[in-house]
Amino acid sequence: MNFLGQNTSELENILRSMGEAAFRGRQISEWIYKKGATSFDQMTNIGAQLRQKLAAEHELVFPPVVARSVSGDGTTKLLLEMADGERIETVRLPYPDRLSVCVSSQAGCAMACQFCATGLGGFRRNLSAGEIVSQILLSRSQDESRNQTPTHVVFMGMGEPLLNFGNVLKSVHLMHNEIGIPMRHITVSTVGILSGIEKLAAEKLQLTLAISLHAPDDALRHRLIPTSTKTGVADLIKAAKNYVAATGRRVTFEYVVLGGVNDTPEMAQKLARWCKGWPCHVNLIPWNAVAGASLEGMGFGAPKADDLRRFRAILEEAGVATTQRVQRGADVAAACGQLRALQQERPFETSIPLAVR
Ligand code: SAH
Repeated sequence: MNFLGQNTSELENILRSMGEAAFRGRQISEWIYKKGATSFDQMTNIGAQLRQKLAAEHELVFPPVVARSVSGDGTTKLLLEMADGERIETVRLPYPDRLSVCVSSQAGCAMACQFCATGLGGFRRNLSAGEIVSQILLSRSQDESRNQTPTHVVFMGMGEPLLNFGNVLKSVHLMHNEIGIPMRHITVSTVGILSGIEKLAAEKLQLTLAISLHAPDDALRHRLIPTSTKTGVADLIKAAKNYVAATGRRVTFEYVVLGGVNDTPEMAQKLARWCKGWPCHVNLIPWNAVAGASLEGMGFGAPKADDLRRFRAILEEAGVATTQRVQRGADVAAACGQLRALQQERPFETSIPLAVR
């Protein structure tokens, strides 16, 4: 069994079933999730005999990083290859005071959002909890300050996290309990899967839920997200309010701003009416260019600066908390919605050994 993706109590059980003391399981989980070990050999407080037995009966395997693209702004995109050849992308976003990682939850995506590179590429498969959490561990050692552990995680890479609920939830617990990332620093972004939002609310976690709204009315939303036709904007607002009631956490609405499509003053007013007066906030994401993105033959474009300013001002005047996402990594196609993982944009630069501390 691959130990990557197993939590401490699962590792304790495995060790027990091998006739070993349970505390070995805790030691191994510390090596994997805290100290960056990539092989049993590196686990120096475990005797050579047991290490050999572990290597013979189990494995500790990470997906190889097959390409790495570094943006001028310091954003790094990693291309990881899964054991079955599927490729996914992970984006590492360093800031002066934190390190965010944007993780993928699926290879590809079935939601078919018309403005998104991943959506245009179609669905491949769900990622396991180990494959999800490996993205965090592999993001740890990508620069000079080796072993800097990610402080924030956003499920905003490839895929729809709430359609891979069990594995995503397990990976969230691994990030929190084993790696030590605060729950409040983890954001799960969903296209708006109602049953998934309900299930997540029942977990009563302190993570942040972000819902991709993108339009204030059903007709436009269904055109932008063709798989959303069973879900109305009113249903999403209701589910979000239930989420707030269950968890006490403010909900984020993401709104990809498409020039001339969803950025009119009327739409801002409509959006403000949905969002006014309860604990939510709107995050505007100016559209990032994706070749081939189209809506009924109409190419998308980024919003004009004036239209975007006016849109935001209307929300703020109505008392809706509003932020705007800063574009990062666009020069290496690592910005929101640009992940495709078809080919490497740049040749593989260096081999990246995982440092062990
Ligand atoms: N499936 C999840 C995660 C997707 S990625 C979801 O739908 O929320 C996170 C955000 O990036 C989503 O809000 C998504 O709609 C947005 N996005 C997709 N393509 C984009 C693009 N080309 N420009 C800007 N944002 C985009």
